[in-house]
Amino acid sequence: MSRKILVTSALPYANGSIHLGHLVEYIQTDIWVRFQKLRGHICHYVCADDTHGTPIMLRAEKEGVTPEQLIARVWQEHFDDFSAFHIRFDNYGSTNSPENRACAETIYRRLRERGLIEVRSIEQFYDPVKQMFLPDRFIKGECPKCHAKDQYGDNCEACGAAYAPTDLIEPFSAVSGAKPELRNSDHYFFKLSADTCQQFLRQWTRSGTLQAEAANKMQEWLGAEGENKLTDWDISRDAPYFGFEIPDAPGKYFYVWLDAPVGYMGSFKQLCARTGIEFDDYWKQGSDAELYHFIGKDILYFHALFWPAELHHAGFRTPTKLFAHGFLTVNGEKMSKSRGTFITARSYVDHIKNTEYLRYYYAAKLNGTMEDIDLNLEDFVAKVNSDLIGKYINIASRCAGFISRKFDGKLGTCNVAATAEFKATFDGNEIARCFEERDFSRALREIMRLADVANQYIAEKAPWTMAKQEGRETELQEVCSTALTLFRDLTLYLKPVLPELAAQVEQFLNLAPLTWSDTWQPLPAGHSINNYQHLATRLDPKLIDAMIAANQESLKNMTENHSEQRHAEHQQKVIEPIAETINIDDFGKLDLRVARIANAEHVEGAAKLLKLTLDIGEENPRTVFAGIKSAYDPEKLKGRMTVMVANLAPRKMKFGLSEGMVLAASGSEPGLFILSPDDGAQPGMRIK
Ligand SMILES: [Zn+2]
Repeated sequence: MSRKILVTSALPYANGSIHLGHLVEYIQTDIWVRFQKLRGHICHYVCADDTHGTPIMLRAEKEGVTPEQLIARVWQEHFDDFSAFHIRFDNYGSTNSPENRACAETIYRRLRERGLIEVRSIEQFYDPVKQMFLPDRFIKGECPKCHAKDQYGDNCEACGAAYAPTDLIEPFSAVSGAKPELRNSDHYFFKLSADTCQQFLRQWTRSGTLQAEAANKMQEWLGAEGENKLTDWDISRDAPYFGFEIPDAPGKYFYVWLDAPVGYMGSFKQLCARTGIEFDDYWKQGSDAELYHFIGKDILYFHALFWPAELHHAGFRTPTKLFAHGFLTVNGEKMSKSRGTFITARSYVDHIKNTEYLRYYYAAKLNGTMEDIDLNLEDFVAKVNSDLIGKYINIASRCAGFISRKFDGKLGTCNVAATAEFKATFDGNEIARCFEERDFSRALREIMRLADVANQYIAEKAPWTMAKQEGRETELQEVCSTALTLFRDLTLYLKPVLPELAAQVEQFLNLAPLTWSDTWQPLPAGHSINNYQHLATRLDPKLIDAMIAANQESLKNMTENHSEQRHAEHQQKVIEPIAETINIDDFGKLDLRVARIANAEHVEGAAKLLKLTLDIGEENPRTVFAGIKSAYDPEKLKGRMTVMVANLAPRKMKFGLSEGMVLAASGSEPGLFILSPDDGAQPGMRIK
């Protein structure tokens, strides 16, 4: 009986590139979807770019484009990356679509009608320069716990402490550098703490919708019966914001929770419009269709609590199951830019090209649990070469040539006894069960066991010996035909994992696209196959080395985290106009010297100045007042080397005589930066 299945993967944010960590999820989902389709079920796979929010708005502003232009460009990049890895969505949309807006508004209206939306005034940091409320990630300051500087508003990267942005010491806006102010604003909340949500979720999370480990986690989050541990969720943000304005609340916008996951519905709606599928068949309450969300374990809380409560109370069906997976490590460690193991989809494609190798390796590691999986690069090469090439491809390359050369490309009769024996030692239903349960690693172990059996058969029969002996032609044709039938079966089982390779094999074996019902039917005698051409080559470890080296090179100047955010900050294009041309003599009048900052201190009563004592190798050091107080802690300047103008006429200031000037860079972006000579420069050296 044919099932109706709707499958989603989490929506990638339109603020960064797809990397190998993301691909764990998309490859896993794609394999599962292809398996369902191969089994003859109706299965739709939809996803979309998550496009709204402050980071997108600010990044677009910095790049000098509209948010719509930015998200259109990123959409294309994401789509191309997914396509390169053979991830085949039935619809890949965007949360910035009219369909998504309609769904978000419907859900919001229905929740409001049920009394589950509440307006509350909350206090939040506001950037008076940029004139906007600041998300936690855009507030920085000193960690209240370990006192590390320059930490984000939600947690400290130095000590791992989590806190509220209001706990930061000397907070500043990461957007403008301004000191943020606390201001009140009305926010809209979804009342997840309401009794009706609690009761519903207790029942829902226990009804087999979650993996065992996730269900346990949920019990923890929900607390004991009678306990109320759930809190209301803030679903609004104030203008300026890139997103959907809340219908009855001018200046308020739907925040991610009422917009991004709704993208599953919005994207499906686009598919419906294009193909005539009934939206309600899949989303109405009591629908007999199945709905599965593949997600990372980090967004489990949201998908298992907020999302089903929201759907249920808005009159929609809830997910049949959530499939949460773990994170990716590379060589046993977190992906790292400095080690070159932060690998983007694009960099993989550029260096290694064959994306099915990665699909195969991930499949060999995935077992349907929330455990992290490791991409060990040495093991990756070994597994591809020993299993995929050495066991699977080897069958075709050892037998096909004889059929082409000696039998004009025509197969003979398969050996019935041998085929029956294979069938007896090997259970195709078991493989199907493994795929269904997302235990791909087990499925591949079974498939490779069959490949071993096939290779053993070929080794025993030794067709290469038969080929040299008179009168054994029929036998030779039989052995090769039997082996190629097994090769066909292996290809079918591997097809969800290796769709491109399977298509090549179908072409080579001159077969219609394989379906699950094709297994164990011997290829018929007299069937013509095409000439064997190289299906896949061994993976050269040098390609991996080159990829790692290239990543190390291109990423070495980037920080480990939030690179996209910072990357955007470096893309400021507007610079001050270049000044009038001067000649070399004009320049020669400037006497610039390397100076050591012997001392730096605050000046009583001066808002902007620091008093610097500069050593340029003269008998007496100089005193210079510099307007760099906003950017530098005097303690950290002591002992640093910098550059000063040594022949500037001394200037009498309120606080004393300033005997020169230090040089600093500034622009339209926040920040002020004094110069440093390269290591080895000595005080007093002239800059020419
Ligand atoms: Zn800290």
